Amino acid sequence: MPKLNPEELERYRNLLLQLRAKCTGGIAGLANTALGENGSESVSKMPTHPADLGTDTFEQEFSLTLLQNRGDTLKLIDAALQRIQDGTYGICETCGTRIPKPRLQAIPYASKCVQCASKAK
Ligand SMILES: [Zn+2]
Repeated sequence: MPKLNPEELERYRNLLLQLRAKCTGGIAGLANTALGENGSESVSKMPTHPADLGTDTFEQEFSLTLLQNRGDTLKLIDAALQRIQDGTYGICETCGTRIPKPRLQAIPYASKCVQCASKAK
């Protein structure tokens, strides 16, 4: 699987920062704060229909995590931002394989590949 290039990393970083704003400012905060400046572009490129993601479990996992566990999600987002700085972003922390891009697109703070994440549950 190809390595993430700087542009892609920057895109995921923006997604993470938007999610972070959503977590800290509440759901309504997204519309007010995260969609300003350079945020709107990456949002419009995100797949909106579950079928675009290959499976709807990504989106379900995403919204459930966000609503139920905002504090934990915030920690995961910060950890992901740290991994971007460390150059380890997008690599499964359990088995070391690259996390597929559609998964990162749906869950930018994912730290495990699909296989390892399902085993961990
Ligand atoms: Zn893995």
